[in-house]
Amino acid sequence: MFKPTVDFAKELDQKDPLKDFKQEFYIKDNQIYMDGNSLGLMSKRAEASMYKVIDSWKHDAIDGWTNGEHPWYYLSETLGAKVAPLVGGQSEEVVVTGSTTTNLHQLVSTFYQPEGKRTKIVADELNFPSDIYALKSQIKLHGYDPEEHLIRVKSRDGRTIDEDDVIAAMTDEVALVILPTVLYRSGQLLDIEKLTRAAHDRGILIGFDGCHSVGVIPHKFHDVGVDFAYWCHYKYVNSGPGGVAGLFVHQKHFGKTPGLTGWFGSNKEKQFDMEHTFTPAYEAGAYQIGTPHVLSVAPLIGSLELFEEADINQIRKKSLHATNYLMYLVDEYLLDYGFSIGNPTEDNRRGGHVCLEHLEAASICKALKAHNITPDFRAPNVIRLAPVAFYVSYHDIYQTVQVLRDIMKNDIHKKYKNERDVIA
Ligand SMILES: *Cc1c(COP(=O)(O)O)cnc(C)c1O
Repeated sequence: MFKPTVDFAKELDQKDPLKDFKQEFYIKDNQIYMDGNSLGLMSKRAEASMYKVIDSWKHDAIDGWTNGEHPWYYLSETLGAKVAPLVGGQSEEVVVTGSTTTNLHQLVSTFYQPEGKRTKIVADELNFPSDIYALKSQIKLHGYDPEEHLIRVKSRDGRTIDEDDVIAAMTDEVALVILPTVLYRSGQLLDIEKLTRAAHDRGILIGFDGCHSVGVIPHKFHDVGVDFAYWCHYKYVNSGPGGVAGLFVHQKHFGKTPGLTGWFGSNKEKQFDMEHTFTPAYEAGAYQIGTPHVLSVAPLIGSLELFEEADINQIRKKSLHATNYLMYLVDEYLLDYGFSIGNPTEDNRRGGHVCLEHLEAASICKALKAHNITPDFRAPNVIRLAPVAFYVSYHDIYQTVQVLRDIMKNDIHKKYKNERDVIA
């Protein structure tokens, strides 16, 4: 399969059908960027579309809402239709709006309808903190105690969540299940289809946080029948810091009035009638609240062009191959130095990053940065390395492992404190 030589890495690059995409991104010549799972790099297309929108503000002013190449009034919906293929949604099921956390609030406000015995929400104990904060506050707003009504499924190994443990928690006291598609730390990909079927068999609604999979793993949210999903675009979709997020609502739920209503969720024809009776859009557009963040959505326009050209299935194929190659090199070169792999190794259980564990992870990350390699640290012991298909070459992966070995061999990391900075 793989060989541990530099020539082999170069050979893989030559054969890579996505190799030309690297030129589309801003990255310094001697830089290796393995942190696209936290903040994707800027592409030239994203920059160009951002300037286009700035230009239309400059020249069109108020008319920018309806004129120009990308009329702002319809942008959330038109971009939603372009994101839809990434998540396996129909065009009208996806809208670009809000942030991950505000979209979660919106969707839980809508779909968490405690009734009789069914008052609980199931999540997992490895979930991203913001999601847990949102769920707890939603439970409180309904007058319940989060300690009792938020069930966090336990992990057996501190890294992964067993789908069967989640299913066992789906009792007749549960109204809603919220899970990540891919766990942010270990990179475990959950079995979305199995979990969705199990929830629906028990009369429970289920929603997914796609932050760590959208843009690197193709989904089939519509076909699987997932009730709703939400995700950010600034990680694998490269839409820039604070870029506007996305949400999916299955068409079986069209026509509902969202829990949090605002005028941008209106039926577009009715919105400017300025009536005090809300007429929601029929589709996912209804879940918008206020005026779209046009300047923060602008880079997504260009960024999505690259996904149209590359195809998400191709991206997943390279990503799996690249993470496999990285794990192989870790095995070859790093096991003597106290590293271990914390992500599931099977292709169908793995996301876009490798979770490398080490007791001195924080100081090793600092040493990597000093060598122009950008990793990502998650306390207390995880180095996340994401060989993003668009802009990380096989040679970059090879180089990263060589530098890691060099750091360990020469104790270079000992020069740094083994603790996180403000932003890990
Ligand atoms: C990145 C991420 C978030 C971030 O939420 P924001 O509202 O964009 O700050 C939330 N949840 C998960 C699982 C994430 O990976």
